[in-house]
Amino acid sequence: MKPWAEAFYNSEAWHHCRASYLRKVGGLCELCMKQGKVEPAEIVHHKIVLNENNVTDPSVTLNFEHLQALCRKHHAEVHTRKRDRRYIVDEMGHVTALD
Ligand SMILES: [Zn+2]
Ligand SMILES: [Zn+2]
Repeated sequence: MKPWAEAFYNSEAWHHCRASYLRKVGGLCELCMKQGKVEPAEIVHHKIVLNENNVTDPSVTLNFEHLQALCRKHHAEVHTRKRDRRYIVDEMGHVTALD
């Protein structure tokens, strides 16, 4: 992971935001829920891919409007569907833009 991404994912602000978002959605995968399935969310996905420029903008990084709670399967799906090789998904399920 890039140092700026690591700094963000390790930040107290993100941990707090992630935890309250998960509480809000009941800790379940939002896409599974749409299919009527109950699956715990493992990842809080940023619908806007983070980069070095927007990572310091809380209206992007800590905004519930731009977050989605997903299970590992759906998270991988969301990213591979785009077939966008500019992004990498690490072993923690975090996505970062390559430069
Ligand atoms: Zn799911
Ligand atoms: Zn994601």
